[in-house]
Amino acid sequence: MHLCHHSLCCFVPPYMAESLQDSEDPAVRQIALASLGNEYRTARRLLSTQPLSVSLMGQIAGKERYVYDMSGASDPLPGKLLRREGDRPADDEAANEAYDYSGDVYDFYKDVFDRDSLDDAGLPLRSSIHAGDTFGGPMSNAFFNGQQMAYGDGDGSLFTRFTQALDVVGHELTHGVVSFTSNLDYFGESGALNESFADVMGSLILQWKYSQTVEQADWYIGKDVLGPGASIQGVRTLTGEKAYINDPHFGTDPQPKHYQDRYTGSRDRGGVHINSGIPNHAFYLAAMTIGGYAWEKTGKIWYITLKSGLSATATFEEAATATIAIAEQVYGNESEEQNAVRSAWQQVGVI
Ligand SMILES: [Zn+2]
Repeated sequence: MHLCHHSLCCFVPPYMAESLQDSEDPAVRQIALASLGNEYRTARRLLSTQPLSVSLMGQIAGKERYVYDMSGASDPLPGKLLRREGDRPADDEAANEAYDYSGDVYDFYKDVFDRDSLDDAGLPLRSSIHAGDTFGGPMSNAFFNGQQMAYGDGDGSLFTRFTQALDVVGHELTHGVVSFTSNLDYFGESGALNESFADVMGSLILQWKYSQTVEQADWYIGKDVLGPGASIQGVRTLTGEKAYINDPHFGTDPQPKHYQDRYTGSRDRGGVHINSGIPNHAFYLAAMTIGGYAWEKTGKIWYITLKSGLSATATFEEAATATIAIAEQVYGNESEEQNAVRSAWQQVGVI
C-alpha cells in the first residue's frame, strides 16, 4: 500500500492523495500518482542514507540553517546549496521562506522551551526546496527524512509551494524533535501520537509567531499550502469539526475526534494521520479550558511529556496519564491545569 517509510514523515497524508486518485480530472489523478509514487521511491532511497549521527560531527550550538535547491529533481538530496546562515536573501522566494520559517521554528523551541534545535545541541536545519516527484513534476508534499526537510512546489492548483506554510515547516521539524526525544514508533497509536505532536507544535508555532490566544487561533493545519483550486479550509483541524466535508477533490476529512471512532485498519501505518485527530482534539480541549496563549501552559505540559514522559511505544492512554502527571508536577495536584488536561482526555474517550 501507499505507506510512508518509518523515517519519512510526509505532510499530506496518503488518504488525501488516494482521494485524488478517484478524480475525473486526469491532471488531478496525476498529482495523486506522483505523490504516492514519490513516497515509494524516496522511502527506498532513504534506506541507504547515512545515520543521523554523521551530521552531528563538528556541530556547534545555535541557529544554523542551510537551504538547497533540487531544481525539480527528486534525487539525490540535498541538492545545490543556495543560502547559508547569515547569507543575504536568495533570489528565490521558496528559499527565503524555508530559511525564515525554519528560523521561526528554531526561535520558537529556543524561546518557549529553551531547546537548541531538534537535538537540543544545535543540529543544523537543512531544507531542500523545489523537490520533484518521480514523474518529473513538482512534488505536492513536504517531508522530513530523519536528516533534513524537503519541500515540493505543489501543482499550483490544489496545492501551492509547501515552504509557504509555517505550520507545515513546524510540523515537519517537530518530527525531528520527536526523533530526539521519545522517538515514538511511527505505527499505530504511538505513530498517531508522533503525528499529533507534530500538528500540535506546528499549530503552536503559528500561534506564537502571530501572538494569537486560544480564541484567536483558527486551529487549522496546512491552510497555507492549499492552492486556488482547493476549496477546503485546511488539511486538518484540531477543533471538533471536520476540516472538509464532501469536497469534490478530497472527499470528507476522515479524522476521528473520539476514541470510539478510531480507525483500526492497517492503512496509513495503522492510521497515523487519521487517529492523530484524537490526541489533537484532546490538546485543543485542554488549551481552550486553560486559555491564554496555548504554548505557555498547555504547550509546556505537552512538550515536557514529549521530552521525558513517553516510551517509544506509548499508547493514547499512556500519553493521557503522562500529561496529567506532568500537569500535576508543574501546576499542582487538582490544579485548574491538571483538571483541564484530565477532562480533555475524558472527553475524547481515551480515559
Ligand atoms: Zn507528519
